[in-house]
Parts: sequence; structure tokens; C-alpha cells
Amino acid sequence: MSSEPSIFERIMAGDIPSEMVHEDDHAIVIQDINPQAPIHLLIIPRIKIPRLADAEVQHQAVLGHLMLLAGQMAEKMGCADAFRIVINNGAEAGQTVFHLHLHLLAQKRFDEGSLASPF
Ligand code: 5GP
Repeated sequence: MSSEPSIFERIMAGDIPSEMVHEDDHAIVIQDINPQAPIHLLIIPRIKIPRLADAEVQHQAVLGHLMLLAGQMAEKMGCADAFRIVINNGAEAGQTVFHLHLHLLAQKRFDEGSLASPF
């Protein structure tokens, strides 16, 4: 996997602008630049884990943090009763940025989607 900084590391470093919704010691949350739903956030760990499949036991705490943050961000955005979390793992699954991130999507009709095409 490339040692080049990921686009998300460049955002965290302030090299690329973003609409920041939240930041803490372990993660940032930004607005997706190309939203697929009225609410579309990206929840991104500061540590670069390329894919979920690359996560190891030492990442357990940060993975838990991302999940808790998802619920907190849904509360903050007013969509805690209806939101979807998506993680694309691997290019064939639609992953384009190889720095683990959760998509938080809300305020669209989820019955339009399917597991193969969730948003
Ligand atoms: P993936 O396809 O890897 O699951 O998701 C990558 C996401 O990152 C896409 O939804 C894409 O729109 C978003 N993205 C890519 N580059 C940027 C950027 O520079 N800024 C922001 N805010 N989002 C980005």
C-alpha cells in the first residue's frame, strides 16, 4: 500500500480544505465533497488504516471510537432515528480512498438502495 499521504491525511494536515464537522484526538468528521444523500459525512480515523480488512487488534479502540462517533454525529445532525453507515472495502467494492472511513448517510429514502448499491 502506498506510503504517500492519503487525501484524508492531507485534509487533517490542513493542506486541503474541507468542511469539518468534528475533530478530536482520534478522528475527524467532514462533509463529503460529492454527497450521495442530503446528509453525507465521512468519519475518518487519524491513524491511516488503508482498509477495514487491514485493521488489527491494536486498532480495536479506534474502531469502537468511530462507531460511537457515528451515533453522536447522527444525533448532532438530527438524523439519529434514520441513518446508514457504509464502509467500502477494496476497489471492487467501490473504495476510492485507501484510508479507512465510514460514510454516514441520511435524509434519503433508504428503500431505494440495496446492499449492492447502498447509496
Ligand atoms: P470511498 O469511495 O473510498 O468509499 O469514499 C471516498 C469518499 O471520499 C467519496 O465519497 C468522495 O466523494 C470523498 N472525497 C474524495 N476526495 C475528497 C476531498 O478532497 N474532500 C472531501 N470532503 N471528500 C472527498
